[in-house]
Amino acid sequence: MMRIVLLGAPGSGKGTQAKKLMADRNIPQISTGDMLREAVAGGTRFGQKAKAIMDTGNLVSDDIVLGIISERLLQPDAADGFILDGFPRTKQQALDLEELLDELGTPLDAALFMDVDFDVLMKRLTGRRTCSLTGKLLNVYFSAQEELDECTNAGGELIQREDDNEETIANRLEVYQTQTEPLVDYYRKRDRLKTVDADGSIDDVYARLLETVA
Ligand code: AMP
Repeated sequence: MMRIVLLGAPGSGKGTQAKKLMADRNIPQISTGDMLREAVAGGTRFGQKAKAIMDTGNLVSDDIVLGIISERLLQPDAADGFILDGFPRTKQQALDLEELLDELGTPLDAALFMDVDFDVLMKRLTGRRTCSLTGKLLNVYFSAQEELDECTNAGGELIQREDDNEETIANRLEVYQTQTEPLVDYYRKRDRLKTVDADGSIDDVYARLLETVA
């Protein structure tokens, strides 16, 4: 049983590590960013509104993400644990989550803080791409050339997220520092915080993450 929050700046590797952990432990990665992007792709009015906010790098409202999360946590596959990725992102969301999990009688085991130097984040974010065929996350600076070729040779495209342009990235990092970083202290005070050194290769970080949750 593992109920954890992955906390960290955009580009700290939350999504990448959550996917590895999901595959290994058979518990769902719950990413509010992914769910919002799905809504955007669906082209609903709600999706259009969310897209306008996401394109600036600002946060969508606490009420909206809480609605998405409470529905998702009630799905049967979340009964045996979950990895929250990109939620909570504000103090209010953390309080709401605590209340929700209290009601469900399933408290968090830990908040894992993915700790990485600020200057590394820019390169991770500007270089980030997704293979249009497989959905695999890649990075033009860090992935092996063979991995990048594997996608393009198969006819895939390396797609950049719309909010991974320099202007939006700068704002996302600022939003993180002002609204989300305080949650590190929030979870430390509740004795839930565990810090993972998130600098280095995907496999090295994952090994450290496993040691931390063991
Ligand atoms: P992410 O993929 O986690 O970087 O999220 C992409 C964008 O979705 C963010 O920049 C926000 O605009 C929005 N978003 C994702 N998760 C949240 C959240 N918990 N609260 C508010 N906005 C969010």
